[in-house]
Amino acid sequence: MARHTTATMTALLGGKRAVVALVPIGSTEPHGPHLGLGTDVIISAAACVRAADVFDKRGPLVAVVAPAVPYGVTECAAGFAGAISVPAGVLTAYLNAVCDGLLATGVRHVCLVNNHLEPAHDAAVRAALEGRPAGKVSVACPLTKKWARTLSAEFKSGACHAGQYETSIMMAAAPELVDEAVRVALPPVAISLSDKLRAGVGTFTEMGMTAAYTGAPAAATEAEGEALIDKLAAMVVDEVRASLGLPISA
Ligand SMILES: [Zn+2]
Repeated sequence: MARHTTATMTALLGGKRAVVALVPIGSTEPHGPHLGLGTDVIISAAACVRAADVFDKRGPLVAVVAPAVPYGVTECAAGFAGAISVPAGVLTAYLNAVCDGLLATGVRHVCLVNNHLEPAHDAAVRAALEGRPAGKVSVACPLTKKWARTLSAEFKSGACHAGQYETSIMMAAAPELVDEAVRVALPPVAISLSDKLRAGVGTFTEMGMTAAYTGAPAAATEAEGEALIDKLAAMVVDEVRASLGLPISA
């Protein structure tokens, strides 16, 4: 969308196919010593770009990737340089305004595509759905069980922050932001974020994630990343289609 002019946007919105805006959402958050701070929003953007291709080929909708929201609720990484957190209420209010603006310009549906999986952040994103009529706004996030089930074993274990799962996706989506020399030497860490959070342990430091990652970054591959981006794209397509009452593939 950022590359459209107002003239080409007018043409798109006036076309035969209803327009869906996909909004990549992430965080500015430490992702180990080997991945960029923008990892989560890059993962969301990669899923959105691939989902837009699927919409294009499949019809009847057409999708545009809207400008991203790169700041989120990032309290788990407190204490590490580059953890930039915004209050949950501010994020929800901002996302509400972004959705309202996209709908007002003539977009049929907005999908908030989130890959920063901190529970308080997820809740703040989902709060932007409250009070809206059906079919206008959806959230696509792999914390939803039916999508989590389709992802990798590491993802399902919960030991997955800047590990094999996210590092693989970054190797496919933005290899220039992966420090390969550091990555290949990183030992696996087996701390389950989801278990720790359930037990009330709130920060990476308290969890023992001394290098701001858990999982196995050294086991990551570009091929796994490509396959995972396909799965995240399928999640986006199905969330949008389900919200609009169209048949889904999953
Ligand atoms: Zn992440």
